[in-house]
Amino acid sequence: MHEFSMVNQIFKRCLEVARQNNATKISEINIEVGDFALIVEIYAQQAFDILKKGSIAENAILDIKRTPGVIHCNSCQQNSKIWFSKEKEKAANEGRLEKYEKYEKEVAEKSLLEADPNLGTNIFHCRKCNSSNTTLIEGKGIVIKGIRT
Ligand SMILES: [Zn+2]
Repeated sequence: MHEFSMVNQIFKRCLEVARQNNATKISEINIEVGDFALIVEIYAQQAFDILKKGSIAENAILDIKRTPGVIHCNSCQQNSKIWFSKEKEKAANEGRLEKYEKYEKEVAEKSLLEADPNLGTNIFHCRKCNSSNTTLIEGKGIVIKGIRT
């Protein structure tokens, strides 16, 4: 369950920010999760509930907003917004599921910080020309958008 380590990193960072600002409590944390980070929201919420116990964020809400991935096509230079599950479904229908499963496995096994930075290269198909000569340029990360004290 890689959600725990991801949320743990985010949570520690929020506590640090709160401390730097002399905040005595955190009431809400807003994060944006790239769809290609493959975070299962319910697991992320469960991890957050465990982590926040006994902290200044004990009563805090974790607000998660999903953002799509963006691939850049090296053939036609077009950028396309894509969602992992839709791409996977399309790949399954077209009989090319292998790379997607490999991607899922790598994301699940390693923290995205340790994963190959080229993860997501030459897997996803361009929306415009259908080339797989693409690079995933957005959607693998988690960003803290706001902390309410
Ligand atoms: Zn293209």
